[in-house]
Amino acid sequence: MGLSTESAVKKSTGFLTIPGMKFHRLRKAVQSICVVIFILLPLFKVIRFDLPHQRFFFFGAELWISEFSIIFFSLMFMMVWIASVAMVYGRVWCGYFCPQMIFSEAANLLQSNLHKFVNRKLYKVSKSLRNYLVILLFSLVLLPAAVFLSFIFISYFIDPIDLFHRLMQFDLRTAGGIMGASVTLVILLDFAFLRQKFCISICPYGYLQSMLADKHTLLVNYEDPDGECISCKNCMRTCPMGIDIRESNRQIECTHCGECIDACATVRGKMGKWSLINYTWGDTSKAVQNENAWFRRLGVRDGKRVAVLVLMLVYATALAIFISLRQPIFVQIMPDKSELYTIGKDGLIQNHFRMSIGNRSGRAATLQVRAAELQGVHIIGLDDNIQLAPGEEKKLVFDAVAAPETLQPGINHMSIVVDVTPKQKSIELKENFFAPFETPVKSSPDSGTNKK
Ligand code: SF4
Ligand code: SF4
Repeated sequence: MGLSTESAVKKSTGFLTIPGMKFHRLRKAVQSICVVIFILLPLFKVIRFDLPHQRFFFFGAELWISEFSIIFFSLMFMMVWIASVAMVYGRVWCGYFCPQMIFSEAANLLQSNLHKFVNRKLYKVSKSLRNYLVILLFSLVLLPAAVFLSFIFISYFIDPIDLFHRLMQFDLRTAGGIMGASVTLVILLDFAFLRQKFCISICPYGYLQSMLADKHTLLVNYEDPDGECISCKNCMRTCPMGIDIRESNRQIECTHCGECIDACATVRGKMGKWSLINYTWGDTSKAVQNENAWFRRLGVRDGKRVAVLVLMLVYATALAIFISLRQPIFVQIMPDKSELYTIGKDGLIQNHFRMSIGNRSGRAATLQVRAAELQGVHIIGLDDNIQLAPGEEKKLVFDAVAAPETLQPGINHMSIVVDVTPKQKSIELKENFFAPFETPVKSSPDSGTNKK
């Protein structure tokens, strides 16, 4: 381009323009990284569900469905984060990061290249036959691509290894298999017929982004106060959404990809002039054109954005603390309510309990269960060392047993303590130990069961 870097910066002060930067190149680099992340992410426990095992992985933490409150606040955090990004950076997700957009553009490129290839090689064949051939070749690529993309997508909900086994068995009977077939069909239809039409007709996030935008949101802005546009329509031809940015800066179809900025810069650069289209912070870009503060250049341009930023930092910190304070081993104990107590043949009083234990960590653990706070009570029916593999859950039953003379009639307060190796804070649960209500309690070898 004939425009010097200095004059480009001067002309674009207040705009998010990077002198010499081609937004197309930037987009393709970002999109390539996104594809790699999209494919690899399910292999790691960063963000994904495991529906069959009712787990949610969130930045390394394995959240169980029983921890619904943490899952809820984690999902809420993601939603607030997505909404905040949309408010500050507009539709940058659509233009740069969204897999739907990335693969739609890839499908367009593939189809266009196939047309060129077939027309070049088979120019003597009739046009309709060439078109059929393109459709056939395109389908041959699209079918395995749809299966692959479906596999990656469902891996965010089902363990990829488990899913791979289902795929190898052509499983169409289980929920996972049916889900795989359905998603493959949807992806096939999407990239065969819809592509970018999906963004403007079906995707709710596009509408949400438009609703969240305000006067400071990042925008692709066409501005031609001096009537310099030569109507070459290069911007329009380049636009992946097929729109003319000159009609309005706030068209619902515009994904803020910036391709039209490059297109106009290419044409006008030959005349030594800057693009008529630029990224701006909303329609008020002129009002802030002398603003040089780095935080305003990053989009923190008003009190609302500062408040959102503070909210996000507080939310993220609280969530991180909350998750880090979770005990990797969880224990739930429920008294068996079908009978308050029984008296064994040996005259000892027994209270029955049910226990659920689970290991939410990535390491095997050993548990020891003991009674505390009530003299003479001991636990029977459990192994001395209960082994729990990573991710394992167990449901057990046990009895707390005591000699009658050590007990008060009726309710006795006690604790059940679970010691865990590797070391974590012992889990102590307050329970009641029921003894017969009449006093004094006598040991009787012939005693049976006492119901409530
Ligand atoms: S108008 Fe420009 S920024 Fe908007 S979608 Fe088209 S090329 Fe991208
Ligand atoms: S590329 Fe620039 S000069 Fe050409 S039509 Fe678009 S806005 Fe006008």
